[in-house]
Amino acid sequence: MRHFAVVGSGPAGFYTAEALEKAYGGAARVDILDRYAVPYGLIRFGVAPDHQSLKAVSKRYDKVADCAGVDFIGNVTVGDDVSVAELLELYDAAILAIGAPHDRKLGIPGEDLPGVIGSAEFVGWYNGHPDFADLDPPLDGTHAAVIGNGNVALDVARILSKTQAEFHGSDIVGHALDALDRSAIKTITILGRRGPHQIAMTPKELGELGHLEAALPLVDLADFPPREADDALEPGQRKSVTILRDFNDIRANRPKSMVFDFFAKPLSIEGAKDNGGHAERLIVERTELDEKGGARGTGETYEVPASLIVSCIGYTTPPIAGVPYDERSGKFLNEAGRIADRLYAVGWARRGPTGTIGTNRPDGYEVAEAIAIAMPAGNGSDRAGSEGLKRLLTERGVKATNFADWRRIEAAEEAAARAGSPREKMVRVDEWLKTLGH
Ligand code: NAP
Repeated sequence: MRHFAVVGSGPAGFYTAEALEKAYGGAARVDILDRYAVPYGLIRFGVAPDHQSLKAVSKRYDKVADCAGVDFIGNVTVGDDVSVAELLELYDAAILAIGAPHDRKLGIPGEDLPGVIGSAEFVGWYNGHPDFADLDPPLDGTHAAVIGNGNVALDVARILSKTQAEFHGSDIVGHALDALDRSAIKTITILGRRGPHQIAMTPKELGELGHLEAALPLVDLADFPPREADDALEPGQRKSVTILRDFNDIRANRPKSMVFDFFAKPLSIEGAKDNGGHAERLIVERTELDEKGGARGTGETYEVPASLIVSCIGYTTPPIAGVPYDERSGKFLNEAGRIADRLYAVGWARRGPTGTIGTNRPDGYEVAEAIAIAMPAGNGSDRAGSEGLKRLLTERGVKATNFADWRRIEAAEEAAARAGSPREKMVRVDEWLKTLGH
């Protein structure tokens, strides 16, 4: 029997477990570890609460968890409760699928002022991540700014602008729904350091902005190259740029606006003299494209008022003791997923924070295949696997949970759902554990 530990129960972890289960059939046991008692990682804590069809992929992961050879072991933090070196003693291989949960820094003066937050924090807050349950983002000012031109920036801007009715059917957590309902924000400026042709927003996600109840997306056609230039774009990008241009044709009166500010590079953030230095404005430099398509400052600066500033400029994977780490790109050092002997990375921890949920499937299958070649099923091992891990955790007083425990939490969350919502998430580790009687 082979024993594998997959660390992290988000999409990358589940696809890898699925692939290992298929590759080895009954000849391997796969444990999916998570630091929380609740599974699905990015699906639960990252994917927007009003994108329930994307979240439905968790049903597929449930089937993996239900396989005889697969176990979910929750409430265990690798690097804290158990080290990677210990996992490699207990298992034939360990596969790190811990995602990229930390915000990249802007690296500009003022980014630590109150009112400036990263998208991992803000998204975590409205998605019920326990680390951000108390974030309490300032929504009492009229102006917010969102930095970045990717899909996360779109998620954040859209959530900031939606009415209570528009959240019907979503699983946004109650504390965020209430706070957003009281929000005074009227103008959301979305800053891109390059132009409309360089956006990283996909058509479906961008298109949603045209149909919002209370917010109108605004673009300045002067920022766009001549329409013929769109022909050189690949089809998906051309579609996105067309949607952006067409925002200019929407004739509607909506009380909030979402202003696309292109060629806008944040230089610094300034705070109030009183009010605890709370963020008040961004100082922005106008840019132009350089020869390589990068953003080059023009020297012209201006101010964008904002008392809430959310940077959506990408994420990093936290280092784990003893695992080679690439500081520059913020992920584990690896070659095609292999970090070291019997140690692998998949998903964002391997590739960095790009790609859709589906991108993790071939990624996980590729690494599982490499493992299956390196460790053929026929040659079993005498490693202790989950039995050994559970013994170690018990000795250390760590209360590991299983998938049946998650089902109990899930049932409690579903039972607590407000009308029209699939669930009311519990937002604290203690609440999960209390539900389990720990
Ligand atoms: P992203 O797509 O890489 O976009 C990051 C944005 O931040 C880019 O516009 C980038 O501009 C900008 N940026 C980076 N550093 C900056 C700086 N120092 N100052 C100003 N702007 C800066 O990342 P993401 O939005 O975090 O999304 C991560 C991945 O998840 C993407 O693959 C995304 O498509 C996916 N996702 C998908 C969905 C969905 O399908 N519904 C939802 C959310 C996320 P430059 O291009 O100039 O570097």
